[in-house]
Amino acid sequence: MRLRRKPWIDTAILDYAAFVTPLGGDWTGSAGHWAEQFGRSAPLHVEIGVGKGDFLTELAARHPEVNYVGLEAQQGVLYFAARKAAERGLTNVRLLVFDAARLTELFAPHEVDRIYLNFSDPWPKARHAKRRLTSEVFLARYRTVLREGGEIRFKTDNTGLFAYSLETMEREGWRLTDVTHDLHALGEADNIMTEYERKFSARGAKIGRLVAHRPAGDV
Ligand code: SAH
Repeated sequence: MRLRRKPWIDTAILDYAAFVTPLGGDWTGSAGHWAEQFGRSAPLHVEIGVGKGDFLTELAARHPEVNYVGLEAQQGVLYFAARKAAERGLTNVRLLVFDAARLTELFAPHEVDRIYLNFSDPWPKARHAKRRLTSEVFLARYRTVLREGGEIRFKTDNTGLFAYSLETMEREGWRLTDVTHDLHALGEADNIMTEYERKFSARGAKIGRLVAHRPAGDV
């Protein structure tokens, strides 16, 4: 998702400083202390690449018993997610402008219960494969921060990225369940659409979905 840079957002996002860490904000010291940040001990679920937040805000509203952290590289996009969370009065969401490449600095080992990846950038060129959020370098980071028995839930319309992810996860020892190449054909009542999911499925694209279960032991 690319937005033209909107300078007003750099100021406007500060309205949500109670639950948003903006670009350049200090997130150091969070690792191992997320329960304190939320003021309660609860399952910790993380979404990487939150976009404008339709998915995360709806999910958090449906699951008040879970603590949610949303990460997004672009402040200009995350602002809209913050606004939605504030409008809905959600108290179980924290949002950070953050590059997931540094995930192991943000969370302590085994601190996270679940990771959501939705419509991650496909990076189709082979020489950019390491940037894919399901590449082996990222899978190693997820394995570090996820607890034993933790999982990744991934959706995409991109058949190339989906095939690559299935193959890479399997090779790295993740157990795959709930795999489908046409999620909407299943008609699952609890599926929450993301912005991209709505847009691409309206154009006729099929949506792939998988759940990957963390291999036992540490990397
Ligand atoms: N999840 C949303 C947006 C998908 S577009 C939806 O389904 O509609 C992918 C998003 O991931 C973009 O907003 C992009 O900025 C973000 N992103 C890509 N790489 C990232 C990274 N390394 N860390 C955090 N966010 C990232």
